Amino acid sequence: MRFDLHSHTNCSDGELSPEELVLRAENKAIDVLAITDHDTVSAITPAKAAIKKHKLNLTLIEGVEISTSWHGFEIHIVGLNIDSNNSLLQQRLTQQIATRNLRAEKIAGKLAAIGFENCFDEVKKIAQGQSISRVHFAKYLLRAGHVSHIQQAFDKYLARRAKAYVAPMWISIEEAINWIHQAGGEAVLAHPTRYDMTNKWVKKLIEEFKLAGGDAIEAALPRQNKNELIQLVNYANQAQLKVSQGSDFHRVSPYTELGKTLDLPETCEPVWRNWTHLEQVSATINME
Ligand code: AMP
Ligand code: MN
Ligand code: MN
Ligand code: MN
Repeated sequence: MRFDLHSHTNCSDGELSPEELVLRAENKAIDVLAITDHDTVSAITPAKAAIKKHKLNLTLIEGVEISTSWHGFEIHIVGLNIDSNNSLLQQRLTQQIATRNLRAEKIAGKLAAIGFENCFDEVKKIAQGQSISRVHFAKYLLRAGHVSHIQQAFDKYLARRAKAYVAPMWISIEEAINWIHQAGGEAVLAHPTRYDMTNKWVKKLIEEFKLAGGDAIEAALPRQNKNELIQLVNYANQAQLKVSQGSDFHRVSPYTELGKTLDLPETCEPVWRNWTHLEQVSATINME
């Protein structure tokens, strides 16, 4: 079975609609897809409806990617198998979106102070009423000709230590884990090697995540070399954490694709091993 347990739609900073995303997953022979938008679950209902409408042979895992603050870093915690209708979770995510909007206003203020006035209205238009991300600011800066590519917008203005960066005001890792557990899900530390921190800090992050009650870490990531995968599997085993895999798909590009090069070795405990709702799917697949 092919799993991709980390993906985005245009309900956050992805480009495909929920319907387009599930159709692409089917097209790329994914069996189990988690939609994990930043701080929102609003793609889940339309994605389910699209799976039904097109009679897709795809199991959808209800997910979310929650932003947290940890020692000045912005750490992402993925929740898998949450109940997206859980009202307490929904209330809490509404609060995260409020934090996101407040941060967006501050970023816009910093950009205005360095000469990019009135950018906020344009950014909101790009976000199309959905939760505002730094990616929407990056797109604005690109479209307005202030940078020549998205990465440059992050490097010059939006990334940590860049000119319009706003220090994180997110909840703690422990709170995010509790929110996910309360909604019936499992908490996964997203892309542990992609936070621009030394190995020593990555290890400390994984250890503290475990102490805070975390369940798994993402080990198989996109654009990854074999050593990184082996190292992350070792860290997971040492901390007695399960492992997950996900493309972190945001858009169609030559570099990223659903399910692309995601393979965990045998020497680890996949997060999905005890997911009973998959038994029916695997039985169907074996019969084919
Ligand atoms: P936000 O959730 O608003 O903090 O934005 C974070 C998102 O921006 C991540 O999920 C990525 O999609 C994207 N991102 C973060 N850093 C970079 C970067 N250096 N270059 C390109 N995209 C980035
Ligand atoms: Mn993103
Ligand atoms: Mn992330
Ligand atoms: Mn992501």
